[in-house]
Amino acid sequence: MAHPFSAWPMAFVVTPSDGRDDRRWWGGCAWDSFGISAALGLDVRIDTACPNCGAQLALAIGPATPPPATLAVWFPKPADQWWDDVVGTCTMIRMFCDRSHVEEWSRREGQRGGQTVDAITVWRLSGPWYGDRLRPDYAAHTRDHNQTLLQQCGLVGDFWRLPRTRPAREPG
Ligand SMILES: [Zn+2]
Repeated sequence: MAHPFSAWPMAFVVTPSDGRDDRRWWGGCAWDSFGISAALGLDVRIDTACPNCGAQLALAIGPATPPPATLAVWFPKPADQWWDDVVGTCTMIRMFCDRSHVEEWSRREGQRGGQTVDAITVWRLSGPWYGDRLRPDYAAHTRDHNQTLLQQCGLVGDFWRLPRTRPAREPG
């Protein structure tokens, strides 16, 4: 993985909205899938499935087009643990039909300690988090910079506190 891009088949498929553009990408998670659109500045369709009910989710989003308001994204563990297992964390950041499907699923699977965020919030975060990734002058964000990006999306509190020291690779 080179976030937000993945060379391995993952749970999300990202397709340009322009049918003449035959590129395709695997998105490692909901956050990465929005990030691919942000990094490329491209309107896309994201295909995935709700882990709770198996419903096919196909959403048309872009740098200026947010996802539907009902969709929810589940984060498995607090930000200071994301880098303990980057790939494992990433693949667990899944998209659900809505918040009630996250609750049903986590109850059934015995998942505790995660947090649910509106897909729109993750989409808003992915713009500044990944939007500069492919620029020639890209420089890795500092921890404080990324903490500010989380805060600007209302992701505050202990769960969203980034570790003081971290490897360069992104969990998203
Ligand atoms: Zn569902």
